[in-house]
Amino acid sequence: KLAYEISYLYENNKNEILKLFNCPSHNFIFTSSASEANNLALKGIAFMYQNRGKHIISAKNEHPSILETLKQLESFGFDVTYLDVNESGVIDIEQLKTTIRKDTILVSLMAANNETGAINPIKQIIEVIKNYPKIYLHVDAVQAVGKIDLDYKDIDLFTISAHKIHGLKGEGGLAIKNNIKLFPLICGGGQQDGFRSGTIDYANAFCLTKAVSNAFKNRRNSGEIAKINKIIYDYLINNADEYAINSKMVDVNPYILNFSLKRKKASVVVEALSNNNICVSTKSSCHSKSNNESYVIYEQTKDHLLSSNSIRLSFSHLNSVEEANYFVQILDKIIKEIKQ
Ligand code: PLP
Repeated sequence: KLAYEISYLYENNKNEILKLFNCPSHNFIFTSSASEANNLALKGIAFMYQNRGKHIISAKNEHPSILETLKQLESFGFDVTYLDVNESGVIDIEQLKTTIRKDTILVSLMAANNETGAINPIKQIIEVIKNYPKIYLHVDAVQAVGKIDLDYKDIDLFTISAHKIHGLKGEGGLAIKNNIKLFPLICGGGQQDGFRSGTIDYANAFCLTKAVSNAFKNRRNSGEIAKINKIIYDYLINNADEYAINSKMVDVNPYILNFSLKRKKASVVVEALSNNNICVSTKSSCHSKSNNESYVIYEQTKDHLLSSNSIRLSFSHLNSVEEANYFVQILDKIIKEIKQ
């Protein structure tokens, strides 16, 4: 009886998540992370539909869970075109149009960048892809959930992660339109419609659903986030001899603000901020390895100095305007005190 009740709860959670994203007729697969969901989306489509063609389109500033998966697919004979991004970190729709080929089967582009917050024009991308019924569009929406508006129902496949929306670490998911099949990464007893075998982690499903639901509720506070962002942005722009802003004001997720230091070392400033109880990172927290240069910032700036010396601020609905003012005051003091 308990097993039956739990599986009923799982179905309920799945339907609730899809309702929250306003795409009730999609399917949803609970995974261990967004990295797994991205792997499942890309390899799942590539291996399932390779008889149609082996060309995939993505972009140079995507998350490593996309780029490394594509590298693997290249070693299996797939051909990947990586779109450039402009100085704001956004792809060019015209370049996307000219890159599409007869053998293109998949386009994978992120909604919002994890390091800079740059927002891709997903609506326009959907309009382009609509003309090619044999091309699927995958969107890494990890940084978009509850933060920017997206018409999820028009996206063939999208990835989410719990820990970017105050959920538990180690939870993610992939939504897919009902008519799409995937080559499964994990074969076995056929759970989750055969797309991901293995006994379902019901606790994971429950917690992810709660996190998504809270993320959409907390979205109401985004006006406050814009204020916080603007206080810091204005300070940085008024001190342009010290800072270069990598998160442009237009088309950017206000929850992220990335800037480079022109004259001081980012690692020294991060440490000094930390001594004042301010936690920031030099790159996205998604990167576990620390090679100092950010390829995301490099693709935007084409400047090795700026891309090796960036700081990423990440805000949440729990931050306040007072904290933004405190940050500016402390950062200014630190920059004036540091000698090098
Ligand atoms: N995609 C983006 C855009 C991310 O920011 C992250 C990092 O959190 C991931 C994918 C990977 O998420 P996870 O840590 O759940 O694998």
